[in-house]
Amino acid sequence: MRESDSVLTLKGIGEKSAKAMEKMGIFTVGDLLRAFPRRYVRYDAPVKIYEAGNGETVTLAGTFFSSPVSRKGRRLTVTSVTFSDGTGKVKLSWFGNPYLSKTIKRGEGALIYGRLLRDEYGVHMDQPQIISPAEYDEMMRRLQPVYSLPQGMSAKNWRKWIRNALTACALTDILPETIRNKGNYPDIKDALIEIHFPEDMEKLKAARRRLVFEEFLLFILQIRSLRGGGIKEKNGFLFPKDAYRKQLKESLQYDLTDAQKRVESEIISDMTGESRMNRLVQGDVGSGKTVLAQLAMLLAAENGYQSVLMAPTEVLAHQHYENTKKAFEAAGIPVRVGLLTGSMTAAEKRNMTAAVRQHEVDVIIGTHALITQKVEYDSLALVITDEQHRFGVNQRSTLAQKGVLPHTLVMSATPIPRTLAIIIYGDLDISVLDQVPARRLPIKNCVVDPGWRPKAYDFIRKQVDLGHQAYVICPMVEEGDDPDIVNVNAYTEKLREALPPYISVAMLHGKMRGREKDQQMEDFQSGKTQVLVSTTVVEVGVDVPNATVMMVENAERFGLAQLHQLRGRVGRGDAQSYCIFIDGSGKEEENKRLSVLNSTNDGFKIASEDLKLRGPGDLFGVRQSGDLHFELGDIYSDAPILQAAADMADRILADVSAGKTAGYEGLLEKARAASPGEKELGL
Ligand code: ADP
Ligand code: MG
Repeated sequence: MRESDSVLTLKGIGEKSAKAMEKMGIFTVGDLLRAFPRRYVRYDAPVKIYEAGNGETVTLAGTFFSSPVSRKGRRLTVTSVTFSDGTGKVKLSWFGNPYLSKTIKRGEGALIYGRLLRDEYGVHMDQPQIISPAEYDEMMRRLQPVYSLPQGMSAKNWRKWIRNALTACALTDILPETIRNKGNYPDIKDALIEIHFPEDMEKLKAARRRLVFEEFLLFILQIRSLRGGGIKEKNGFLFPKDAYRKQLKESLQYDLTDAQKRVESEIISDMTGESRMNRLVQGDVGSGKTVLAQLAMLLAAENGYQSVLMAPTEVLAHQHYENTKKAFEAAGIPVRVGLLTGSMTAAEKRNMTAAVRQHEVDVIIGTHALITQKVEYDSLALVITDEQHRFGVNQRSTLAQKGVLPHTLVMSATPIPRTLAIIIYGDLDISVLDQVPARRLPIKNCVVDPGWRPKAYDFIRKQVDLGHQAYVICPMVEEGDDPDIVNVNAYTEKLREALPPYISVAMLHGKMRGREKDQQMEDFQSGKTQVLVSTTVVEVGVDVPNATVMMVENAERFGLAQLHQLRGRVGRGDAQSYCIFIDGSGKEEENKRLSVLNSTNDGFKIASEDLKLRGPGDLFGVRQSGDLHFELGDIYSDAPILQAAADMADRILADVSAGKTAGYEGLLEKARAASPGEKELGL
């Protein structure tokens, strides 16, 4: 078996499982092996019910004390049963698992793993896991991987498939031995075995180091080789006419900030200068990057060129499209705007790509479908990537084959320190928007424990009564084998019950179809729904100025930089906005970490503070890099590995240009072929 073989070649994986995997971007055995655990848990010995404190995640050993009862909730079936171990009783509840009422038998013994709560509902556990004693024995001995799995897929099967793949698949190591020895990295087989089934912490760390190094190295090799060794390409475009920009600015309800004005002129002098623009605009959430993109696209359109604006999510692409169209119309500018996303019907896509080819649209906004589909442009002069660095790379290579290389602009809210940005992007020019439009009230924050939820719900209700809207963010889509983590499906159901029926609660996550996502987002944007329960798909870019509450469940699972991004979704209008971070960890240090968000609004400071507090030892903790999605690596906490990878990339490229390619074949092939970015876009 080879890495490139379909997952169907693995025993036990049928069409149905393969389809579900496809949705997660897993097609081949190699993809499966590189779908790494999200985190690891080690299970402790069972405790007695009377010993278990409120909010603790524990294993209980006892018997089902009653027969299970199922009732219909507003959306899902709720199955409940009482569980006892002689020292106390716990009410167990599951959402949307009706079959459980058939498998649970009164009087039968079992082990239960979950988060125990003692509150006004009594002693209870939601979505606990039922485990057999033999299984549990093994779970106490070793670190257990926790994966994000497709709906309805069992973690047990998943692990079995990975084990099979690791035994049956012939793996080729793209890192030559010389590089492995130099960095003291394990070979690929050992690394993959350890990352999935760690023997101990040390081996796990070594495995991760190697995989992160490989990931960074490939990424940097791609960027550097595309850049052609820092040679500036000639500007192939002319922009003599320039009246639309002024027209747009005059029609805006506001004046540009000084920072916006400065960056605008940097962009314009690039576009009209000697060489091709290659610029990164970094600006914190809400600093007003979108209008800069619109201004640059106007200059191109006015001079008869097309521009592309790419967004990482359907939701964001839609929003950019609507806003841009409206802004141009309001200013009376006759520039034609088109939308192209992966979820459009085949006919819609065909029509739009034809319109692009025939230059019936000037500004094309969309998701990466723009580049993955065979889109031919009539005269493309400008490519803007919003909030996503990662797929800037592949896009370049695709567009490069389409004639004259366009000007490129990357816009990001991730505060990457300049030093890191240079390692990653090489000779990219960087503009910094270091000013957020005035007039906004600072957001009020609080960090609270889960017991505070009823108050938070009441607060949300009051804000909705005032005509505002609220986001509630959960870390996961559906229940995995990790009952600690609040998931969107079950949560939405609970929230619907907790809020009065006149409040409409909607749900949004990355596993939804594009159309469905658009619909949910549109309903929220138009005020049809008031509360949006979502995963972090709303993290980037979404702009609903009427939303005043951002409540984040399991805030301990997120990096501070990411929480800061989430916070940026509110406080965008004139009303006072609020952030409620629910800390489910029950730990004092965690509370201290989250409190950093109270003390500053500076994205970069927040990220570095987080790193200081957690220390680099926390390898599998939360991720920092909001929109810079590496599978495993984190540019902040893995900065030394990033540097090592950058140095190695330079050496390899020097060797290659001297004709010494021996040993690098695998690496170079992969760097050329890799199409990163697609699967993490959640499209
Ligand atoms: P981001 O940098 O996060 O992409 P956006 O471009 O979405 O920010 O802008 C956030 C909001 O601020 C939008 O509603 C936009 O219209 C508004 N905005 C942009 N520039 C200014 C400004 N100079 N003054 C006031 N509001 C502004
Ligand atoms: Mg934006």
